[in-house]
Amino acid sequence: MIRKRRSRLTPQEYIDGILSKNPFILSRAITLIESQLESDNQLATQIIDKLMPHTGKSVRVGITGVPGVGKSTFIETFGLYLAELEKQNKKVAVLAIDPSSQRSGGSILGDKTRMEKLSNHTNAYIRPSPAGNSLGGVSQKTRETMLLCEAAGFDVILIETVGVGQSETIVKGIIDFFLLLMLAGAGDELQGIKRGIMEMADMLVITKADGENKKAATRAKSQYKHALHLFPPNEAKWTVPVEICSALENEGISDIWKNIEKYIEQTIENRFFQHNRSQQNKQWLHQTIEERLKRDFYKNENVKNQLVELENQVANGNRNAVEVAKELLENYYQEI
Ligand code: GDP
Repeated sequence: MIRKRRSRLTPQEYIDGILSKNPFILSRAITLIESQLESDNQLATQIIDKLMPHTGKSVRVGITGVPGVGKSTFIETFGLYLAELEKQNKKVAVLAIDPSSQRSGGSILGDKTRMEKLSNHTNAYIRPSPAGNSLGGVSQKTRETMLLCEAAGFDVILIETVGVGQSETIVKGIIDFFLLLMLAGAGDELQGIKRGIMEMADMLVITKADGENKKAATRAKSQYKHALHLFPPNEAKWTVPVEICSALENEGISDIWKNIEKYIEQTIENRFFQHNRSQQNKQWLHQTIEERLKRDFYKNENVKNQLVELENQVANGNRNAVEVAKELLENYYQEI
């Protein structure tokens, strides 16, 4: 029976579609999450809430590195490896950076098709995240998208970020394992990788270890191993491994997965895994509350009407910012 496509399904239709692993319905539900319409977002949260018992079973991996380090090539090879893993055939969802939304060099990256083979694989699902107004907003959406993918039965979720700092800190709050891709022969400054990101990493992988670059990659491996010794021990009591790989020649890929599996096993055993996820959930509750409070406050008509004038007074030094803030907040609380 051909049914005319409605703009919206009922919440139950979304839920059933996602649980029956229908990729089209999954995509439509993610579109609700990403929508600018409040009513769409509300429907999405309602769906996610119902799906919560079906979430949490995937391995959540963050993958970061500067543009050009080889992220999309790596994710394609790594994703295909997992999707075809002997007897396991893992279902892999990739929450990728939408190249056209990247400010730096968007046109160059936007020209090529990323992860083409992986996107055609039956065990894979790739969703590029659109550019958002705020990093927080994007990551909130990323987290919700991840939960939907888990409910749709994906075993591994790969979340890509660009290695500049802020987005990594947020993504670290939703993943189990953080993979940092590095180039050999480029200084850290050149790679734009901050020490803070190195400290967050659960594994370092030197990319493009092939041809003439292999020697340099091996050298970089021992340098980074040495550098990591100087870092304080991490909460997970995990020794951060450094590996080399070539995504183009499909080398070193299985070792990377083995390390991730070992990490999961070890942290489940020492209970860091569960602890980390509970902390993340709590953190998300508080972040959501903070975001909502802020949003509602700034959306309030009275606040909007008074703000420009008061801002000027504060800017001119005529009024004390703390006092003005107190006044605005008190008026706002009285009104609501
Ligand atoms: P991204 O910007 O981090 O997603 O990087 P890309 O995956 O687009 O790769 C950037 C460039 O590095 C492309 O020209 C790739 O062909 C090249 N590249 C990626 N992986 C490898 C690799 O394993 N070996 C070699 N030699 N080149 C690679």
